[in-house]
Amino acid sequence: MTDTYLNLVNAQPLSRIAKAAGLPRPVPLRRYAPDAPLVPGPVLVLGRSRSTQDMAATLLEWNLDVRRHLRPKEKFGAAVVVLDDLAHPGELSEVFLELGHGLRNLLPGGRIVTISRPVTSEISPQTAAARQAVDGTLRSLAKELRGGATANGILLGEGVNTDAPSVRGTLEFLLSGKSAYVDGQFIAVGSDHGAPPKSAELPLAGRTAVVTGAARGIGAEIVRVLRRDGAHIIAVDVPAAGEQLAQVANHAGGTALQVDVTAPDAAERILRHAATRYGGLDIMVHNAGITRDRLLANMDQARWSSVLAVNVESQLRINEKLLSSDHFNSNGSIVCLASTSGIAGNRGQTNYAASKAGVIGMVRATADALAGSGRTINAVAPGFIETDMTARIPFATREVARRLSSLQQGGLPLDVAEAVSFLASTNAAGINGQVLRVCGQNLVGA
Ligand code: NAD
Repeated sequence: MTDTYLNLVNAQPLSRIAKAAGLPRPVPLRRYAPDAPLVPGPVLVLGRSRSTQDMAATLLEWNLDVRRHLRPKEKFGAAVVVLDDLAHPGELSEVFLELGHGLRNLLPGGRIVTISRPVTSEISPQTAAARQAVDGTLRSLAKELRGGATANGILLGEGVNTDAPSVRGTLEFLLSGKSAYVDGQFIAVGSDHGAPPKSAELPLAGRTAVVTGAARGIGAEIVRVLRRDGAHIIAVDVPAAGEQLAQVANHAGGTALQVDVTAPDAAERILRHAATRYGGLDIMVHNAGITRDRLLANMDQARWSSVLAVNVESQLRINEKLLSSDHFNSNGSIVCLASTSGIAGNRGQTNYAASKAGVIGMVRATADALAGSGRTINAVAPGFIETDMTARIPFATREVARRLSSLQQGGLPLDVAEAVSFLASTNAAGINGQVLRVCGQNLVGA
């Protein structure tokens, strides 16, 4: 649905009035377009480690206009801050203050990306302090940026260097318009598995994807984006949504499969269809989901059980069958839809939050079991997304929910679909067990 306030506030005279009154001033976000450059201007590469020069060389290979220092008053499109060998919090000030001095020249839709390492039990307290300090700095910086600019970080796992395929893939995603609604987040690259796709334009070429809940909303958009990126599509939804499902599948040149994901034989039917029609399956997107909101004081068994059954129990059952099947290919990716409600909680959604937090638990445990296998499982946790579901929220609540993020607006189904497609690509093969929030850095909760 349309964000009328966003449209009005970007037109005179309301833009001036909003500025004077200190009202939120969301701007249209920079989203992916095939003919647009990766970033809107020069890229500043900051850092003192040996990898910093290699990173600058990588960005030059991508035909970007790279700077090691900003020229006075020069506008820039992105900054990549390489902090992979931090040992003490005292080392942070030089790079971050240099970045800060240039920030007013960051172009609208600009990007800041840090590359650092996570805190582990093996490192010294000084190193841990320095690494965790990056977290606090980045999340605060993301809240300071305006003009649709975002700040996100990449965390390099043990033995993973800045030139690992999934680090490059993640950096490209975060610099691009595909990450428009990802803000204030860290993506951990845990292994150097993965390879750049054979075709940059069609990163999912040759891969077959199942998308559940595909008949409308976010699922229909995931189908469209996975198809745009080259995947063969199997679109799944309940028989009652059959007509819409057929339209979505036809439009993507794929096949429709009417299956209720809670049916005991759902996994067998999906795998049989994939094996017969496409010779196997590479990508499983668990998107089907329902809400049955009530305060816990008014909750009944049917509302609780149906939400758990669709949102998490079906995923558990299907994954179990999938992961023991030869029809799920050796470099297969599973992407599960969680929600920020499952992270921060949401009034009236104890059942829904239980189901989505359950998805996150399932993803982490399954990722441990898949480590080193070449297969991955990750979750995408959307915040406020402009869909039929959120259009039903009463006007005042909806307006508040929309503005309560660093980007001061709701995301689009497209933003969720871009994150799903990224996690489903071989570019992301080094990413496993992560929960990627697509929430514009929602200010509520974690
Ligand atoms: P939606 O209600 O518009 O679409 C959900 C689809 O799932 C429908 O086509 C429905 O028929 C299908 N479905 C429901 N039960 C099914 C079943 N048993 N078997 C097969 N298909 C079934 O929802 P949406 O807003 O597009 O949300 C998609 C996913 O994203 C859900 O998992 C939802 O929880 C999650 N999500 C949405 C938002 C948001 O703001 N819209 C925020 C966070 C998370």
